[in-house]
Amino acid sequence: MRTKLIVGNWKMFGTLAETRKLIFQLAVEWGKPCEGVEVAVCPPFTSLIVAKHQLELSHIKLGAQNCYAETSGAFTGEISPAMLADIGCTYVILGHSERRTLFGETDELVSRKVRASLDAGLTPIICIGETESQRDNNETESVLARQLAGSLATLTNDDAAKIVLAYEPVWAIGTGKTATPEQAQAAHAFIRSELSKKFGDAAGSIQILYGGSVKPQNAKVLFACPDVDGGLVGGASLDADQFIAIIEAAATP
Ligand code: PEP
Repeated sequence: MRTKLIVGNWKMFGTLAETRKLIFQLAVEWGKPCEGVEVAVCPPFTSLIVAKHQLELSHIKLGAQNCYAETSGAFTGEISPAMLADIGCTYVILGHSERRTLFGETDELVSRKVRASLDAGLTPIICIGETESQRDNNETESVLARQLAGSLATLTNDDAAKIVLAYEPVWAIGTGKTATPEQAQAAHAFIRSELSKKFGDAAGSIQILYGGSVKPQNAKVLFACPDVDGGLVGGASLDADQFIAIIEAAATP
């Protein structure tokens, strides 16, 4: 039985004042652990240390939205996985479609980042997903298979227990369009079958999150799908009431 995981991707939102307010609402005003649900927030780099201090006594974990593939060096403007681990991050989101599309990240680069993150003791949340035209052309499975093979290329069987996957159909991210439970389940089952080819039985323990316009109104039906192990939540994670409602939707059977 896999634990549900709800991760908030704040994207490029959150001044320090906004970070303090949102974390206070989540960790202090609400703050109750939900049985069977792990929760993490991924603020921008500039807010991580402030968020970490505020989350000190909380069950909510901290993650970053990206990192580089090296430990240190002359890589102006980059942040290493070791630096993220050093300030108390547990997770790092890698290969988000916004990074693939806007910043030209390839599967090869994602795979190097995944390796470096694991070596630093972080849990990578590896994002994959098809565009609308790829879905319309019946390419969803081939795209997912290719992204999985490329992004996981550096992993061994021992790594299977230390990764999280996120299925994020690009057409559903920030658009208000959500995959139907049937579409989500089909994609997640396919991803799990590909993971089984690579990792064998260990694939059964890997959490696969759904991401793409998850809201309180659709969370419960999505999380009820047998292979959907929680959500990667963008827009709705910036509103405490909505994010809490999504967490609670994951807790209730
Ligand atoms: C995301 O940023 O990963 C995401 C799924 O965004 P949204 O929930 O806003 O669609």
